[in-house]
Parts: sequence; C-alpha cells; structure tokens
Amino acid sequence: MATDLVERHAQAGRELRRHFPGDPSEPIPNLVAGEWATDGDGAFDTIDPASGTALMAVSIAGPRQVERAVGAAVDAAAAWWRMDGQDRARLLRGVADEIRSHADTLGLADTLDVGRPIRDTVARDVERAARLFEFWAGTTDRLRGAAVPVQPGFSNVVVREPYGVVAAITPWNYPLTNAATKLAPALATGNAVVLKPAEESPLSALLLGQILHRAGLPAGLVSVLNGPGETTGSALVEHPAVEKVAFTGSTTVGKLIGGRCGALLKSVSLELGGKSPFLVFPDADLAAAADAATFTAFLNAGQTCTAGTRLLVHASVAEEFLELVRQRVGRLRIGDPLDDTTDLGPIVSERQLQTVRGYVESAVSDGAHRLNTPGHVPTTGWFHEPVVFANVTAEMKIAREEVFGPVLSVFTFDDEEQAIAMANDTEYGLAASVWTRDGARAARLGPVLQAGLVWVNCVHVLHPGSPYGGYKASGVGLEMGDEAIAQFMRVKSVWTAVQPWRSPWQ
Ligand code: NAD
Repeated sequence: MATDLVERHAQAGRELRRHFPGDPSEPIPNLVAGEWATDGDGAFDTIDPASGTALMAVSIAGPRQVERAVGAAVDAAAAWWRMDGQDRARLLRGVADEIRSHADTLGLADTLDVGRPIRDTVARDVERAARLFEFWAGTTDRLRGAAVPVQPGFSNVVVREPYGVVAAITPWNYPLTNAATKLAPALATGNAVVLKPAEESPLSALLLGQILHRAGLPAGLVSVLNGPGETTGSALVEHPAVEKVAFTGSTTVGKLIGGRCGALLKSVSLELGGKSPFLVFPDADLAAAADAATFTAFLNAGQTCTAGTRLLVHASVAEEFLELVRQRVGRLRIGDPLDDTTDLGPIVSERQLQTVRGYVESAVSDGAHRLNTPGHVPTTGWFHEPVVFANVTAEMKIAREEVFGPVLSVFTFDDEEQAIAMANDTEYGLAASVWTRDGARAARLGPVLQAGLVWVNCVHVLHPGSPYGGYKASGVGLEMGDEAIAQFMRVKSVWTAVQPWRSPWQ
C-alpha cells in the first residue's frame, strides 16, 4: 500500500512537471515580467506531504528578479489602468475560462503540493478561483466615484485610483484560491501584482501565472516569485515601488508585515489566523450540526483559517452530541489525497505535523479527555488522525492557540450568556457558526459574536460578493465584496473652481 502510494505520486509528479518549462532535472523557474526566469538565486524542493518525498525543485527569486518583476509591474500597471474597464473585464473573464479548462492540472498541483484531496481541489477550488475572476470582471466598469455637493463656486469629484503595484503574499493551505482571492480584485481595480506564494505550495501559483498570460494579460502585469518569506517576501514588502501589501498567513508574520508597512507608510491588508467557535444549542438539528462540526474541524485536515475548532455545546445535549460527532469522525476516510473518496489528506509538512503532535501532547498533559475515534492513517508522509478532545477548559493551550491541524476541542456551556462569553474569549475573531432553531436567538447572537463572519445553521459558505475578513487578531481589512475595492484603490478628491477663484488674502 505504502509503495503503491509513493509510486502513484511519483508518476503524478512526473506528469505535472510536464506543465512547467525547462528540463525536469532543473528547478522550475519563476515567472518574472512575462518570462520564465532562469537567473534564480538557488532553489528549494517542494515536498509531497502524502509520500514525504521531494516533488520538484523550484527556483528562488533573489533581488534581481524582485527588481525586474516590480519594475515591469510599475509600467504595466499604468497602461492597464488606462485601458477601458470593459476590456479589462473581457480579459479577466478569459482567465476564468482558462482556469476551468486547466482544472485537472491546477487541482493536481495543489493536491500533490499540500495534500488537499483531489475531489476538493479539482472541483471546489478551481471553480471558486474561476468565479472570483468572473465576479471581479463584473466590477471593472463600476468602479464609480461620486460628485459631492460642496459650496457654490466649486465642483468636487471623488475618484478612485489603483495603488499601482500590489505585493500579494499567500499561505499554503488553499494555494490556488488564496492567490485568486487577491489577484482577481487587485487586477480588476487596475493594479499590477507580484505574487509570492508560500514555500510549501509554489506550483499552482506558477500555473495560474501562466494562465493569466495565456488569457492575454499584458506581460509584466503579474509576476510569480517563489522563495522564503524572510528574503523574497520581505524584499517585496520593503520595495519602495510596492504601494500595497495584501497578506494572508499567520498572525505572527502578519504583525511583522503590518509593522513594517506602518513604518514604511504603505497600505496593508492582513488576513490572519483563527480559533473559531462553533455553538450548538439544545434546540438545534443535532444531526445536521454534528455533520457540520465534523466538516469544519477536519476540512483540509484542519488546516483552514475559518475552521470551527472550538465546539461549544449546551451541557444538556453534550453527551448525545459528542456521540454523534464521534461516529462521524470514525467514518472519515483518511488516505491518499489522489483518491476521489478521501476526506482527509496529510498535514502539509513534517514541521507542521510536529506542531500538531505537540498540541495533542499538551492537551493530554493538561487533562483534556481524548475521545476514542477509530481510524488508521497511511504510514507514508505526514498524516495525522483526527482528534477530538472533551473536557477542555479555557486556560489550556489547546483552547487558546491555533493548531492548524485535525484537532477539535469541546467545551460545554449552561446558558446563552455563558456561550457568548466563551465564544468571544479568544484573541482571534475570524468566524463563528451558530446552530439553533430559535430565530430570535440567532438574531441576538449575530451582533454580539466578535467575528468577521457569522454562519447561522451553516458553515464555510462564501461568495465573492460578500465581504470576508477578521476581527481582533484575525486581521485588518476585508477581501471580497464591494469592500475589497477599498483595499485595492485609493480615493482622490478633485476640486475645480467653476467661477474665478481668488485667494482670501487678495
Ligand atoms: P505564514 O505566516 O508562515 O506564511 C504566509 C506567507 O508569508 C508565506 O508566503 C511566507 O513565505 C510569507 N512570509 C513569511 N515571513 C515573511 C516575512 N518576514 N516577510 C514577508 N513574507 C513572509 O503562514 P502559513 O503557515 O503559510 O499559513 C498558515 C496561516 O495562514 C494560519 O495562521 C492560517 O490561519 C492563516 N490563513 C488565514 C486566512 C484568512 O483568510 N484569514 C486564510 C488562509 C490561511
């Protein structure tokens, strides 16, 4: 079985390599200013977490490539913004078509690179990426300003302008959709983008860069630079011609980047970590809530920023509900992410696997009760079985820190007030999910939960037209929705004297 998986992945990796330029023995180049650049500063291996073996080598973008990418982006951005919005829209719709026609390759890249099951990458992620481009294509000719009714003698017009060059820095958990979430609005609003994907997941971003060029976007408008955050990423943040940094990743790195952008006085938006509550009241449809609780905690092997990792359940139904969850967790199919039936693939990296194990050990030694959830994991790569802890208390490490792995912590509450206090007792504020059949309760909770996304009787529902962002340590700024326009455009107030204007000193 283990040998089969390793051989199957090696074969799939060789297939995938054919979609990138250059000799397979050479590192994959970066896409710099419309060209595959062979002058990288070294290379790194991207690892297939299911087999634990090197998938392919990828070139590191050093200062030369950063300079070329940003320089080309400055030129391309100016011409791009001068283009008729409808022409930008046509090109962006073409990107969506190209994304769909390369669904299998894009999906395979993310499945091999990060272990997310192929069923989810090929269908869900690719479609979501395509829809992001379609949604944003529909906004290019609606980036309206306003005429302000000011004092007589003047006209005042408020216009929006793109920043110019955006550095988009993304994490590894949903590589394609994280990239599309930034690229589509940034481009629709007239910016050029230099994209720096995470070291763990360089591949689909390079394919997406290729697709953008194939769809007819001007050379230099988008470059994809791979490399370590501390060098390639930070060179982009520091570059004086980069006027906007759009970051998604951990709260620790987000604070660092936010601090640098503050010092450099450049605009920044930060989509960061989470420790989201999932609240179950006794009047909820318990079976549906148990399905959802299992889905949110173990989706993408728990490596989801909006995962409902703190399950808060009313004491009167706790035992019954936990049994429903335990049965569902026991039925999860853990295994080869290339299998269509797999629910849970591996953890992205050996380092992340060690982190998850550390959290599990800490919960056990802090006195949490680990439920017996049967299931075995492959012996290759970096798999971790799903874990459910009951009797978790607020001061335990597992209750407070983002694990980013398949670990669910369960707490009980006695009344609504206590549930709200427990839900909000976290430094994070990304998402919350509430399960109740009581409409008045749902209406009461929505406003008081400190989270940028609240789902009532559902979870993980998103739409490009609806804003997405975190409260508290989960971020600054919003992605998606009309609100994202403000993230990628500045506002200018233009005053014109409509009668001869005289200085008040005359
Ligand atoms: P990370 O913060 O380690 O890395 C994110 C990106 O930042 C990577 O591309 C990395 O190379 C880069 N980076 C690291 N140091 C840098 C530096 N000094 N300067 C510039 N760039 C730097 O995060 P990760 O481990 O890749 O992703 C997991 C985290 O992302 C989790 O905390 C998760 O919650 C969060 N996340 C948040 C959202 C959201 O929308 N809020 C979505 C997905 C993931």
